Amino acid sequence: MTTTTPAFPGGTILGYPRIGRRRELKRALESHWRDAIDDAAFHEAARANRLADLQRLVALGLRADDASIPVEGAHYDHVLDATLTFGAVPARLRGRLPSGLAGEWLLARGAGDDVPLEMTKWLDSNYHYLVPELDAASNFSLADTRIVDRFVEAGAAGVHARPVVVGPATYLALAKGTGVRPLDLAERLVPAYAALAAALAAAGATWIQLDEPALVADHEDATLAELQDVARAGIEAARAAGLRVLLHVGHGDAAGRVEPLADAVDALAVDLVRGTAPETDGVQLVAGVVHGRNVWRTDLDAALEALRALAERGPVSVGTSTTLLHVPHDLDAEAALEPRLRSWLAFADQKVAEVATLAAALAGDVDEAAFGAARAAIDDRRAAPGVHDGAVRERLAALPADARTRSPYDDRAAQQRAALELPPLPTTTIGSFPQTGDIRSARARNARGELDDAGYAEVLRDEVRRVVALQEELGLDVLVHGEPERNDMVQYFAEHFDGFAPTQHGWVQSYGSRATRPSILWGDVARPEAFTVEWIAFAQSLTDRPVKGMLTGPVTILAWSFVRDDQPLGETADQVALALADEIADLEAAGIRIVQVDEPALRELLPLRREARPAYLDWSVGAFRLATAAAAPATQIHTHLCYSEFNTVVDAIDGLDADVTSIEAARSKMEVVDALAGHGFGRGIGPGVYDIHSPRVPAREELDELLSIATGAISDELLWVNPDCGLKTRGYAETVESLGNLVEAARRARAAV
Ligand code: GLN
Ligand code: ZN
Repeated sequence: MTTTTPAFPGGTILGYPRIGRRRELKRALESHWRDAIDDAAFHEAARANRLADLQRLVALGLRADDASIPVEGAHYDHVLDATLTFGAVPARLRGRLPSGLAGEWLLARGAGDDVPLEMTKWLDSNYHYLVPELDAASNFSLADTRIVDRFVEAGAAGVHARPVVVGPATYLALAKGTGVRPLDLAERLVPAYAALAAALAAAGATWIQLDEPALVADHEDATLAELQDVARAGIEAARAAGLRVLLHVGHGDAAGRVEPLADAVDALAVDLVRGTAPETDGVQLVAGVVHGRNVWRTDLDAALEALRALAERGPVSVGTSTTLLHVPHDLDAEAALEPRLRSWLAFADQKVAEVATLAAALAGDVDEAAFGAARAAIDDRRAAPGVHDGAVRERLAALPADARTRSPYDDRAAQQRAALELPPLPTTTIGSFPQTGDIRSARARNARGELDDAGYAEVLRDEVRRVVALQEELGLDVLVHGEPERNDMVQYFAEHFDGFAPTQHGWVQSYGSRATRPSILWGDVARPEAFTVEWIAFAQSLTDRPVKGMLTGPVTILAWSFVRDDQPLGETADQVALALADEIADLEAAGIRIVQVDEPALRELLPLRREARPAYLDWSVGAFRLATAAAAPATQIHTHLCYSEFNTVVDAIDGLDADVTSIEAARSKMEVVDALAGHGFGRGIGPGVYDIHSPRVPAREELDELLSIATGAISDELLWVNPDCGLKTRGYAETVESLGNLVEAARRARAAV
């Protein structure tokens, strides 16, 4: 334990949104990619955006002179920034990676035959980072000075900031190694951190923030000890250069994980929303009492009480539970949000103010007005109409014991075969067809009032006609309506359910220039009236082939929304499930024989810690089953999963009890098929044979190869032929060609069965 504890600011945040209050960075990135602006103009736009954020943070109450303000400011991704900073060029690009922005975009986006770095979700969030690609020859050095430059830039603007970088343990834990175990490269990597720290110290930095969230994830004991050693080496390297180190773990419970590092750090930032305080008495703690991942106002009374209790054990300052990257910039931009709901919320800027208020209070200066307002908002929310809806609660309380159980699969399958008369190896798509410029512009004109609802509906119906005719022409067996009416697969549902509110500017970075606008799930959920039936029934009226109803599942709706924090997630999921069950009943009544309930986010919400997984899988699988169990045995229920490797949750996929499961598989060469077959999965499976993530048209040989792997592992009665995911981001030209090849491949495979 250190005896002379260095001063740390009374309040800080661990990171701030970077896309810009009006998505300025997104526009700059996309303009540069289109060649509409040159390098200098891009750098100027990015700089202006970073400086605007710094000034905003000072205005909101963070101090400018004591390293309270973190500076990170990645163009595209903070893990990519570390890759560039330490010169970790993938072997396939070594010696020929262009310098500057061209090299950065090549790693992020690929070009020609050079594929980009793989993209994966950051811990259990919906943010995607670019996966470092390491091999036995990987070497590291201080190859790029962006982290130093941004510290200097902040200083010139009057802010003595705290540079932030992913720590070495987390960098290696999140990397992919070819022919090498990434953690074995630690001895080469740590000196590069030392060089960065030395450069920062020379530029006048006093603190550095090392983000090491990998320490709180699930690991074997030996791996955890190794990660702790690597984290310690990074900390010691920075301290040897003369910097003070704030170790930030966040994203879960640090207790039991960071204690061995307590003697090495100058301050420790932990997540107290999802975790508990570690036993590190005497170490400067940055207590993450303000939620970095959700948008509810902090209970300031409870937070202050917790802070005061911690302060008896050692020095404490106030922090956020994670970076604020995962919440939108500013609630004040939401002019259309109902004022009462708005009073319950805090976006990034409001959270910064909460941190400042709590820091002042902990120092003895309690702002009674601010505390009173927070108290009033929390009381108001508790009692507000809609937060508790008697009818919704009674319906859930009265669920019969078999509410999550369908009839036996064999019985259902026989009824479905008779009702649907499909060929072996039926072909289908995942739901969306390309969202053309025409559709987007009609939606925008409708939102601006330039196109009336009837005119907009006619544009959409035309699109459905086109999509149905195209699928018939291509010879697909189970058709879709194409989802042209949906702005987003969750927001569209949020707009039609009670208990949800969409935002206008609540963008959160998903990856690179892409951002999503999660809706706020604030109250009890119900579905006042059918909203997908009109579209599906219209599509069905145009064809004799079955058209699939298309719904987003309860887990995905929760995963991609800001969810109420006043009841267990499982209860909220069940409410959504019943709303979906109502929609399925209406689809059946309208003559729809197949309904797909998408759960692409099932894997995303899986807790990082093994011990928390059974409870999660129990409520998530249970909610899906509640949504679908009331369907008639003859109604074929499909589900769709993507975005992740699913090998670890095969049990849960089986537990969903869907009649047909389509799943992303093309890029991993059907890896999941073996896992499912090995598990004895006995219901319909459609492993994707067409990777829709790129405009490439899959060639005949490729499709044949993937399909033969699938037919080798799965019985012919169970196999479906489909793409990996929806087609909304594709163009029509490549879609038509690719689907044509897919149907041909299915025909060839059928001839062989
Ligand atoms: N039905 C949706 C679509 O096709 C599924 C999207 C997804 O899996 N993310 O777009
Ligand atoms: Zn998908």
